[in-house]
Amino acid sequence: MTLLRVTGLHARHGLLAAVRGVSFDVDEGEVVALIGANGAGKTTLLRTIAGAHPAAGGVIAYAGKDLEGLPAHRRVALGIALVPEGRRLFPELTVRENLTVAGRPGRWQLETVLDAFPRLRPLLDRPAAKLSGGQQQATAIARSLMTNPRLLLVDEVSLGLSPQAVDEVYDMIATLRGLGTTLVLVEQDLGRALAVAGRVICLLEGRITLEAPAAGLTRDRVVQAYFGFA
Ligand code: ATP
Repeated sequence: MTLLRVTGLHARHGLLAAVRGVSFDVDEGEVVALIGANGAGKTTLLRTIAGAHPAAGGVIAYAGKDLEGLPAHRRVALGIALVPEGRRLFPELTVRENLTVAGRPGRWQLETVLDAFPRLRPLLDRPAAKLSGGQQQATAIARSLMTNPRLLLVDEVSLGLSPQAVDEVYDMIATLRGLGTTLVLVEQDLGRALAVAGRVICLLEGRITLEAPAAGLTRDRVVQAYFGFA
């Protein structure tokens, strides 16, 4: 079943057209990786779907409903969660407070989150500012889960993390995938994107240059889409 249908979407930053007529579907339970060079429009696309950035044209339909005009918090209430780049936790609040502030009824409650991701348990009473980058990212993902999303949008989880921390965050993503979570993730690392996603979408200058199943995708084809070589 199609959970998200993006049709002819445009988004701007002032005069700059960051997303230029993008169309794609995401099925329930699918994991889609959004790839593309810096500035390709990936973050703007995710933020526009989440309602954190205005669309300048096109339609975003979620569970068959047109989201036009709905502010971000209403989209969260419908089950769309964004884990933003840079994590954006409340630094003075503890991990427990960061998690519980976001609560919405559903399967994901503090205990179920901690059972699924036990590494968070010893961190519960620590202020977010005192966490490592990897721990902050894990907390940010867990916090978004607490809103019990049906669609989880994740922006650049590996940004600025050590390789070991990236592995740990990707273990989390794999767990979520195993539970049937619908995920759209922005990932710069092609190897990671291909390993975790069922399908890959590449953006170049605000347009889709490649949309294909991850399995069997050759590096050459991706590089071509990434840089626009003919
Ligand atoms: P990155 O990996 O660097 O985050 P991205 O693919 O996510 O890249 P966006 O961040 O969506 O790309 O940026 C798309 C275009 O919009 C770029 O040209 C960028 O410079 C521009 N842009 C992004 N944010 C802003 C902003 N707040 N104000 C002005 N221009 C912006």
